[in-house]
Amino acid sequence: MPTYMYECENEKCPSGGTFSVEQSIRDEKLENCPHCGGAVERLITGGYIRTPTSDSDLRDKGFAKLVRRDKGVYENVTALDGESKFWDANKPDSMPDIKRRISD
Ligand SMILES: [Zn+2]
Repeated sequence: MPTYMYECENEKCPSGGTFSVEQSIRDEKLENCPHCGGAVERLITGGYIRTPTSDSDLRDKGFAKLVRRDKGVYENVTALDGESKFWDANKPDSMPDIKRRISD
């Protein structure tokens, strides 16, 4: 099943703000946070698009590919220079720099 990232709008949410949920593509998207009941938004990421292209192709096209390594921890296999190689969902600073990719 695909994994979807959600962002909780409750600043005090115990999830730390973002969390991932495994869902069938036929499932309705979540509207309430399973951690605190707050409103959530499903995030759109390039990390879960399945294509036959290589990691370096994806990086060149501006995608960030995240590979799940542990609960809430993702390896950014397309990390650019200066980017964190690992994304810990509890550490927003380690999130890939999406804005930089868009402006390039
Ligand atoms: Zn929450």
